[in-house]
Amino acid sequence: MKTKLIKKNKKMFKVKPNLENYEKTRKNFKWKKFYNELDFFENGKMNAAYNAVDRHAKSWRKNKTALYWEGADGTGKKYTFLELSELSNKFANVLKNMGIKKGDRVFMFLTRVPELYISFLGTLKTGAIAGTMFAAFGPDALKDRLQNSGAKVLITNSELKERVYKIKKELPELEHIIVVDEEKVKRKGEISYKQEMEKASGDFKIQKMSPEDYAFMLYTSGTTGKPKGVIHAHIAILQEHLTAKWVLDLKDEDVYWCTADPGWVTGIAYSILGSWSTGVSSVVHEGRFSPDTWYSIIEKYKVNVWYTAPTAIRMLMRAGDSVCKKYDLSSLRYICSVGEPLNPEPIYWGMKAFGLPFHDNWWQTEGGGILIANYPCMDIKPGSMGKPFPGVNAAIVDDNGRKLPPGQEGNLVLKPNWISIMRKIWRNPKKYDSYFGNGWYISGDRAFMDKDGYFWFIGRADDVIKTAGERVGPFEVESALVSHPAIVEAGVIGKPDPIRGEIIKAFITLGKGHKPSKKLEDDIKKFVKTHLAGHAYPKEIEFMDKLPKTRSGKIMRRLLKAKELGLPIGDTSTLEEY
Ligand code: ATP
Ligand code: MG
Repeated sequence: MKTKLIKKNKKMFKVKPNLENYEKTRKNFKWKKFYNELDFFENGKMNAAYNAVDRHAKSWRKNKTALYWEGADGTGKKYTFLELSELSNKFANVLKNMGIKKGDRVFMFLTRVPELYISFLGTLKTGAIAGTMFAAFGPDALKDRLQNSGAKVLITNSELKERVYKIKKELPELEHIIVVDEEKVKRKGEISYKQEMEKASGDFKIQKMSPEDYAFMLYTSGTTGKPKGVIHAHIAILQEHLTAKWVLDLKDEDVYWCTADPGWVTGIAYSILGSWSTGVSSVVHEGRFSPDTWYSIIEKYKVNVWYTAPTAIRMLMRAGDSVCKKYDLSSLRYICSVGEPLNPEPIYWGMKAFGLPFHDNWWQTEGGGILIANYPCMDIKPGSMGKPFPGVNAAIVDDNGRKLPPGQEGNLVLKPNWISIMRKIWRNPKKYDSYFGNGWYISGDRAFMDKDGYFWFIGRADDVIKTAGERVGPFEVESALVSHPAIVEAGVIGKPDPIRGEIIKAFITLGKGHKPSKKLEDDIKKFVKTHLAGHAYPKEIEFMDKLPKTRSGKIMRRLLKAKELGLPIGDTSTLEEY
C-alpha cells in the first residue's frame, strides 16, 4: 500500500528536539560515552531507583512534581521528587525490617495507585528484584508468576488479595502479604502498609548495586504462549533514560503521560525508571480507558508528551472527532505509540485530530528499552517502525543468520550488545539460550528494511501467512482493512486450506453507524484487492463486536486462530475482557 511521507518541518515543533541529528549521533555512539547521564556511587556502583528519583530529590528538582496521580474516582494527588524519595525510603525500611535482602523477589499486584510506584522504587533500593503483575490477573495467572519467580513478598490491596488466597497454599516461598488499603491487619500473616509506613524512617541507605545486578523482572505479554520471566539489570535505566530523552523527547518543562500499566514493561521503563530519570513530571491515571476520560486528562494536566498504544488510538478514532473537539488538547506537542504495529490510518487521523503525527516505536519485554523508533528529527514513513536507536544494531536475516538486502522480508534480529538487553529468563536457561543464534538476538518478528534504512514490521514469525505460494504479512492486510471507512480494527490469520495451503481470514470490528452485511463484506474484499494485492485479500471475513486482546492491548491472533480451528486456546492469563 502506498503511504504518504510525513515531512518534518520547524512548524511541527514548538521546541527544538533533544536529538537533533540521528545519523551523526548514531555514527559516533558508544554507550560508555553516556554513563555520565547517570549518577554512580563509588567503585562504579549504582541503583536504578536512585537515578529515577533520589538524585532529583537532592537537586533543584526536589520540590518539582514528579507524579500527578489521577484516581479512578477522579480524585487527584501530587508527589514531589523529595516526597517520592522519602516514601520509597520508608518502604525500603519496611522490607528490610522483614528481612528482605538483595536478590529476593518482591511482587506488586495493584492497580495504578501511588503505592505501586513507591513500592517498586523501595524494592529496588533494598537490592531486591521488583516484579509487577496486572491487577486484572486471576488466580491461575498469579500462580504461574508467583510460583515461577518464588516471590517472598506480595504487595496488594484488600480486594485483590482474595485471588491470592485461592492459590496461597501452592506458593511455599511467599512469606508476606502487604495490604495497602487496610488500616489494621485483618488476617493472620498480613502486614498493613499504612501501619508499617508510619513507623518506618524516611532515611535509608540505598543498596549500592553493580550495574549488572538484577533490578526488576516481569512476564511477557503472553501473546504467543506461556509468559516468560524476563530479568533486567540496574544499568537498563541508561537505555531507558536515553530513549526517554531522544525518542520520547522529554524535557524538564514537560508534563508527560504514559498510558501503560507497570504490569507491562512500558509502564516500568517509561512511567517509572527512564522517564523520571530525565526529571520529567509524569501523569498516572488509575482508571480505565474511555475517550472522554482520556481527553479530559490531557486537558486537565496540560499534557505535552503522550505515549500510548495503537489499540487506544484506534478506539479514540472510532469515538470520532466530535468527542475530541470537546476538549482543549492544544498542550500536546509530541505523541508516540508502542506495543503493536501502528497502521498508517491512525497516524493520518492523529494529524487531523491533534495536528501531530504519532511516532511509532518497536521493542519487546526482553529488550528493556526502545530499540527501533521514529524520532522527532526524522521524517515519518507511516506504517514503518523507524530506525534502530543509536547503539542498537538491527538487521534482517535469513534462517541461517545471513543478512538480506533492503526490501527483502526476513527475521528481525539485533546484535546482542545493547545495554538494556535482558540478563536471563528466570529459572529457564534453555528458553534464554533459544533467543540467540549465529551471533544475533532473534526477536521472533518478521520485518524488512527499506533502502533508506527504515524498518517495516510484517508480523510475528508465527503469524505470517503462506497462501498460494506467497507469504503475506498480517500487518499489511490489517492496515489495508483499517483504511476502509467502515472498519476500526482487524486481526488477520492464515486458515489451512487444501488447495492454497492457507487462506486469509479477517476478523473485524466496525465503526459507529456500520452494520455487518454481505454487501459490506464484498465491498471490503474488493477494497483490499484494489488497494493491496489480488492475492492478499481476505477470502473469509467475520464481523466481531471486539477482538481478543492482551491486557497491554495487543490483538491475540493466536486465539483467533485457535478458535477458528477448534484448537486448545493455551495460556489466556493476559487476555483482556473488553
Ligand atoms: P509473548 O512474547 O509472551 O508472546 P509479547 O511478545 O506480546 O508476548 P511484549 O514483549 O510485550 O510481549 O511485546 C513485544 C512484541 O510486540 C514485539 O515482538 C512485536 O511483535 C510487538 N510490537 C511491539 N511494538 C511494536 C511496534 N511498534 N510495531 C509492531 N509490533 C510491535
Ligand atoms: Mg514476545
